[in-house]
Amino acid sequence: METTGSKKKFSAGDIIMKQGEAGQSAYIIEEGRVDIVIETPDGKQQSVGTRGAGAMIGEMAIVDNAPRTATVKAVEDCILLEITSEDFARRLENTDPVLRMTTQVILTRYRDTLTRADITGAGKNWPPAEVIELSHAEKGDAVQNIKISNEFSAALKNGEVSLHYQPMIDLQTHQISGFEALMRWEHPERGFISPNIFIPIAEESGVIVEASEWALKESCKALRRMEQRTGRDRDLFMSVNFSSRDFVAENFVDSVYTTISESDVRPEQLHIEITERMLMDQPDHARETLNMCRKAGMDISIDDFGTGYSSLSYLNYFPIGILKIDRSFVSDMHSNEGSMALVKSIIGLGKNMKMKIIAEGVEHQEEAKSLKELGCDMAQGYYFARPMPEADVTKFIAQADTIEF
Ligand code: C2E
Ligand code: CA
Ligand code: CA
Repeated sequence: METTGSKKKFSAGDIIMKQGEAGQSAYIIEEGRVDIVIETPDGKQQSVGTRGAGAMIGEMAIVDNAPRTATVKAVEDCILLEITSEDFARRLENTDPVLRMTTQVILTRYRDTLTRADITGAGKNWPPAEVIELSHAEKGDAVQNIKISNEFSAALKNGEVSLHYQPMIDLQTHQISGFEALMRWEHPERGFISPNIFIPIAEESGVIVEASEWALKESCKALRRMEQRTGRDRDLFMSVNFSSRDFVAENFVDSVYTTISESDVRPEQLHIEITERMLMDQPDHARETLNMCRKAGMDISIDDFGTGYSSLSYLNYFPIGILKIDRSFVSDMHSNEGSMALVKSIIGLGKNMKMKIIAEGVEHQEEAKSLKELGCDMAQGYYFARPMPEADVTKFIAQADTIEF
């Protein structure tokens, strides 16, 4: 970090503030983007969105020196305008008395609302973005969830929701083999809202069913366009995430099949990504559904593999073609022997069961190299590419036939 007057420069990756620490300043973002992450009570890191130019972060510090409610990290090089609590107090003292009083009243109510919500977990109806996201993520506020779910449903129709595509690299041939489609929601007032926030809400309300249909249709069309623009014909796949709600729908397989046929994508090009937990909710129904998908030619991928609680016997029961090693194991495979052992075991297990293995969350070259040596088939992660809009992915494929690592 570099300081010039009240401006502070942060480089991509720098931590700007840390959850739980005291802080005496708020910042206004002049340039760049930051990622806001909270640690939930059960110790999980949850991204709650990004903020760009014009947004204020860490404002609670100048209200009442409260500890930071989230960790904020620079995702790009950033220039931030610092507002210290003294600076804020001085400005307030020098301002028009009516403005001063109004500001003080608003700030006090803001703090009271937060404090009350902290104690009761009760609904709040005027909170700014961070408060909605944080309180929701921490407490699962029912009223707020209904509101978000309705807004998300409308957003699907009015173009606020888009898909980004993250390339998956074949570790043996170094070629791009396919993509995972990931939803993005850019709210006109709140900015980027993380799928970690809106997907669980959409699942709970059932809106996920229309969202998944939309994502499948969009990603299939995008796949065909990417193929046409890059001359890669029919050898790329698209991996689409589905939820339990999608699965229980009577016409799931028909609907998926119709969508891919209409967009002229071959069933072999579609990977259906589901989690272990989804299989366990209704095992018999899931098996029947997946068998039909498999018969039609689609592949089934188990997401976040290794984080579920279930026994391994289910691997035999369901027609699974791909295991995706959860990124928590990949990210510390070099610093934690247990994680390395798990990664090795999952790769071995996959080989024995004639399944393909994809490692998620590869952020460093040494992980890519080790995974290749261990015989892992494919990998995805920030080291190769972040999830990107269609135009950038097309450029990415067109630029290089193979990816060096
Ligand atoms: P997921 O299915 O496990 O997706 C992978 C997540 O890891 C994505 O987060 C991706 O951006 C992130 N990621 C990829 N590479 C790296 C890396 O190297 N390091 C780190 N730290 N993260 C990496 P994203 O896009 O925020 O999505 C979060 C979750 O939201 C997804 O987790 C998935 O469960 C859900 N989701 C996203 N899009 C959809 C969707 O269209 N349908 C459904 N049902 N769920 C979705
Ligand atoms: Ca996934
Ligand atoms: Ca995953």
